[in-house]
Amino acid sequence: MAKTLNLEVVTPEKQVFSDEVQSIIVPAAEGYLGVLPNHAPLISGLKPGVVKYRQEGKTQLLAISGGFMEVSSNKVTILADTAERPEHIDIERARAARERAEKRLKERPPGLDVARAEFALQRAMARLRTAGLNG
Ligand code: ATP
Repeated sequence: MAKTLNLEVVTPEKQVFSDEVQSIIVPAAEGYLGVLPNHAPLISGLKPGVVKYRQEGKTQLLAISGGFMEVSSNKVTILADTAERPEHIDIERARAARERAEKRLKERPPGLDVARAEFALQRAMARLRTAGLNG
């Protein structure tokens, strides 16, 4: 029985991560989902949120803004619209995005695309949590 999984995280722009990990937790469409070695094959949609993986006994985080995950033969592929490691997150930009989205959702101007504002808020909160701040 395998003790690790190969995790690969790719966006349309680049490969963000590719390595062996011990476990993964992803923001699946139905809620957070854990994947351990020898997991059954699976395809799932992902929401904006935080991907957590364990490597050499440490938990590491990545912010993603939604996409898909495929699990097959101890390989987990995450195809994400965007994905950032903590050190690449611009905290001020994420804070500004969160404030913009919160203001729109509070003021509800006519014609507001509520779902779009909610997704923008979730992306910003995922980035802040990944950077170690309160989303
Ligand atoms: P903003 O309103 O600040 O542009 P957004 O959520 O609309 O935020 P996205 O469309 O999800 O941004 O991402 C566009 C590009 O910018 C992607 O390459 C993404 O990785 C990057 N990006 C967005 N926000 C940040 C951030 N706070 N720090 C680092 N990179 C970011």
